[in-house]
Amino acid sequence: MAKYLRKENPEFDVVLVERRSLFMSCPMSNLWLAGLTDLEFLTHSYLDAARNNGYLFFNASMVDLDREARRVFTDQGYIDYEFLVLAPGIDYNYKAIGVEDLEAEYALRQNYPGGFIPGSEHLSIRAKLEDFEEGLFVLTVPPGNYRCLPGPYERACLVAHYFKKEQIPGKVVLLDANPDVTIKRNAFHEAFDTLYKDVLEYRPSFEITSVDPFKKVISSDFEDVEFADAAIYPRVRAHKLIEQLGLADPKSPQYEAKIDVFFNNLVDDPHVYVVGDARPMPFSKSGNTANSEAKNIARVIAARAAGREPGEWVPPHTVCYSVVNGDPVEAVMVDARYKFDEASKQFAFDKVKLLEERSTAMGQAAFEWAEGLYRDMFA
Ligand SMILES: Cc1cc2nc3c(=O)[nH]c(=O)nc-3n(C[C@H](O)[C@H](O)[C@H](O)COP(=O)(O)OP(=O)(O)OC[C@H]3O[C@@H](n4cnc5c(N)ncnc54)[C@H](O)[C@@H]3O)c2cc1C
Repeated sequence: MAKYLRKENPEFDVVLVERRSLFMSCPMSNLWLAGLTDLEFLTHSYLDAARNNGYLFFNASMVDLDREARRVFTDQGYIDYEFLVLAPGIDYNYKAIGVEDLEAEYALRQNYPGGFIPGSEHLSIRAKLEDFEEGLFVLTVPPGNYRCLPGPYERACLVAHYFKKEQIPGKVVLLDANPDVTIKRNAFHEAFDTLYKDVLEYRPSFEITSVDPFKKVISSDFEDVEFADAAIYPRVRAHKLIEQLGLADPKSPQYEAKIDVFFNNLVDDPHVYVVGDARPMPFSKSGNTANSEAKNIARVIAARAAGREPGEWVPPHTVCYSVVNGDPVEAVMVDARYKFDEASKQFAFDKVKLLEERSTAMGQAAFEWAEGLYRDMFA
């Protein structure tokens, strides 16, 4: 977004407020968990991105917002804005899996992290795999519009691949809150059944009602599953910043922002925008989607800054590879746009291309796609 705002109008004075000092990619991180790529491939410098593209990287945390005064407060000082774009991503909602108690929530966050927010969670899961000796390693798939629909299934495949390769006497159990695999269904079922029959057990319709992180038990209304180790992915919600700033839609089950669904500005404020996974639209919560949306919204802001109408809505673009086999590296993919149905007032997938027969060519294409995205963001 910062880069494309400058491309739209080189006169724009763009500041990126980001609380991390290092970018770590979630896409391709499942491959890193299984030893199929290195950390250098996933990590990138915010400083270089800002220097290469003529904006300022301000390594700070946003803490408050005064929309009247158009002022953003951070832990390092304040910034006055003409246009503000919020893209804080997601948080986990532990209450949705029956974990109300803060001590239990933090025991879960620390000992069995979801691994869908980049950084320490991924390092922790990789260390767990390396130390794993025997028993059940549980992964979970949440309900709702969670971050990266195929991500938990890809992770299950690649952790199972790792168990096979390292001859670990254990089993990966994937507990899915949904009645079936939510995307690339045939491809994942085929991989579960043919590549990982003895090491991976897929259990649909497992709606978690409670987790005891001390006794290491995950429960649904019907059964309890004891695990040796786990990475528990709860239901997602928009990052808490959205709610703290009073921007969440009270009707949104995932506390997502109340925005114009075509141009992403707050319904009552054309100076403040929410993009990426904190948006309420049912688009895939994925990196390619966020990247294409950012370019569209940069155009909207540039038009409005120049006193022009933003023009037609441009749908975001979802491109998502999933690596299902580690030896050889084979992937499947989906490519889709979106359309808005005026009669039902709903968004739906459009122009969907689903390639579910895994191949090494798509395995290679997954790396090329990621390299292209990193180049677009950082070069
Ligand atoms: C394991 C995994 C695999 C994935 N695979 C794919 C894939 O193959 N393809 C794909 O397209 N997508 C994939 N995704 C999804 C993709 O990573 C996300 O959809 C994308 O990162 C969303 O972008 P975002 O900008 O909304 O959120 P984020 O990337 O989470 O960025 C939000 C940023 O806001 C910062 N922030 C939050 N609060 C504050 C604050 N108060 N002040 C300052 N900064 C703040 C955070 O530090 C963070 O850097 C995957 C995700 C995971 C976890």
